[in-house]
Amino acid sequence: MDISQVDISQSGLTEAERVRILAKTARFNPPPAQLADGRRDLVGMSRAELAGELAAIGEKPFRTKQVWHWIYHQGVTDFSRMSSIARPLQEKLAEHFVIGRPEAAVVQTSSDETRKFLFRFRDGQEAETVYIPDAQEDRGAVCISSQVGCTLSCRFCHTGTQALVRNLGAAEIVGQFMAARDNYGEWPSPRGETPRLLSTIVLMGMGEPLYNYENVAKAMTIVMDNEGIALSRRRITLSTSGVVPMMDRAGAELGVNLAVSLHAVRDELRDELVPLNRKYPLAELIAACRRYPAASNARRITFEYVMLKGLNDSPEDARELVRLIAGIPAKVNLIPFNPWPGSAYETSSGNAIDRFAKIVMDAGFSSPVRSPRGRDILAACGQLRTDSRRERPAA
Ligand code: SAH
Ligand code: SF4
Repeated sequence: MDISQVDISQSGLTEAERVRILAKTARFNPPPAQLADGRRDLVGMSRAELAGELAAIGEKPFRTKQVWHWIYHQGVTDFSRMSSIARPLQEKLAEHFVIGRPEAAVVQTSSDETRKFLFRFRDGQEAETVYIPDAQEDRGAVCISSQVGCTLSCRFCHTGTQALVRNLGAAEIVGQFMAARDNYGEWPSPRGETPRLLSTIVLMGMGEPLYNYENVAKAMTIVMDNEGIALSRRRITLSTSGVVPMMDRAGAELGVNLAVSLHAVRDELRDELVPLNRKYPLAELIAACRRYPAASNARRITFEYVMLKGLNDSPEDARELVRLIAGIPAKVNLIPFNPWPGSAYETSSGNAIDRFAKIVMDAGFSSPVRSPRGRDILAACGQLRTDSRRERPAA
């Protein structure tokens, strides 16, 4: 969809704001996806870029589809396994390119089967990815990181204590999912609705995906490509703390499910918990949710709401929440606060959570309480963090 078709008139936000965000984001871009010997990583290239690379070494356009299939449908990492391609071309490809994966430096499995990966990228920077199996069925969500660290500093979030080191590139974002699939032996990609363990993606790991929009969008476009991994947009959820101008763009261009980290229903409190609220206050955030194009009764917006004892968990808060989101096709995901070393908050009592959930539910919104997963290995929402640091400030 053309971005110009999106109605942003009510918000008063301008294209200039988006340009400013994208320019700032670019300062944190990753190093080129390339080895020291000059070979380039084919993972993370758009189809057009892949076609360009193949043309540059004298190959015909039809090769693009073939190579794409081997990389993203079959999941091979070795050109010699591309059996529909003759040996001399396999060797030529291997001279110029690699099919990369982040290195799984540490893999931990929780007592509840949640699995956390610490991935190390080529420059040594690290980010975490979590696989959360469904408790009832043989499927689950892969929670992917979009940045090493985060520029925002939501008070209750462990990632927020780690300064932004850099953005992850498209190769590194897709690579987290592909490496997790390697770990579970889930290649080739299924055709149609064949059940899979790794069946959905949630962009809810480290970082703010809408402050790394270009790389995230490129990665998701690759993941959704029908001739490769082929995950439908319905199986992808992007979570944002509320980067309003980029929400419009994500809705128009990607159309994935949207989750919004709300956490407070009054600006005063949200300013404190989610400092980005000072820039994009509740009224603007909720307006952006109302015009989010992918939202419908079948595909509701998820409002994430971390339950903090005595801070945001009163019945008045619940009633105000219901007023705020009235008319939006939405569900409210209540997340008991997950503590981390040094965190200053307490989780709401079970009673307070139940009381809150009931008010929301009685108003017609589904209000599931997210059961904490992988807390024993610090893999639950808001517990992710790595030791990566920025070596020098970005220019
Ligand atoms: N940066 C994005 C996505 C990553 S966070 C965002 O903020 O939306 C994924 C979810 O976990 C967010 O809703 C976030 O607010 C929530 N979260 C952060 N810290 C948490 C904690 N300690 N306990 C429970 N949820 C937390
Ligand atoms: Fe960043 Fe999201 Fe954590 Fe806020 S909650 S600090 S936006 S990762």
